[in-house]
Amino acid sequence: MQQYIIGGIIGLFIGVVGTNLMDQARQGGHDDHKDHGYEDHSHDDDMMLTNAEAVVIAPGVSITPISHASAVVQWNETLIFADPVGEADMYTEFGTPDIVFITHRHGDHFDQDNLPAMLSESTTLIAPQDVVDQLPEGIVANVVVMAPGETATVNPLTLEAVAAYNTRPEAQDFHPQSRGDIGVVLDDGTSRVYFSGDTEGTPEMLALQNIDVAFVSMNLPYTMDVEAAAEAVLGFAPKAVYPYHFRTPDGFSDVERFKELVEAGSENIEVKMLDWYTE
Ligand SMILES: [Zn+2]
Ligand SMILES: [Zn+2]
Repeated sequence: MQQYIIGGIIGLFIGVVGTNLMDQARQGGHDDHKDHGYEDHSHDDDMMLTNAEAVVIAPGVSITPISHASAVVQWNETLIFADPVGEADMYTEFGTPDIVFITHRHGDHFDQDNLPAMLSESTTLIAPQDVVDQLPEGIVANVVVMAPGETATVNPLTLEAVAAYNTRPEAQDFHPQSRGDIGVVLDDGTSRVYFSGDTEGTPEMLALQNIDVAFVSMNLPYTMDVEAAAEAVLGFAPKAVYPYHFRTPDGFSDVERFKELVEAGSENIEVKMLDWYTE
């Protein structure tokens, strides 16, 4: 793709944000309406929090996995919350986000109760129309609607929305293509980092170019199994891939098997693991 941002990025994020988020594990109930009857694996009671160590994934870019699909990304000076779900304090202790993106409506990606407290006037909130239609009233943020295929610039980053949907006929109700759910590519002109959102190996994913780091979901019945995920990753060939969003109703997908399959298929794709669930 065209590179929009040239230079201008000074400063290197250093260090580890070594906060143990377990102390802040929230208690209490959860409204079922937020799960829309599809993915009920995000209830607060069983939200499994990581030990939250920031890991450098690209030059100037570090990620702190919060849980499942939720992460904090520090990209040089830019602070990004990816599908932030859970107590707002778990996120805002990192600072005021410049960008928050929400890939789709499900409760393990979109937290209507806690989102408002994470936002500020200086935050750009990126989401598909379906999510924007369900935003709580009175939120403070610069809301940018993104449909699959669209690009937005939030200096110094460019964001590309990538279609995210189920292709298996039996899974259509989870993420129908017609709803416009998205994955996101973040690009600073140096690195391109992709969060798949909840999807299978769609033509849009396979068409991705020059991805340095990919976060790819793999959990049945909601997204895809590790075999399909490996095939998709071999198709668009990121330099590095991290499994995320791999909790299933019965446990976890076999991400080690995913690693074997990818490494058997290519010597040029590095499969890396992060701790998305360990308490
Ligand atoms: Zn979903
Ligand atoms: Zn999900």
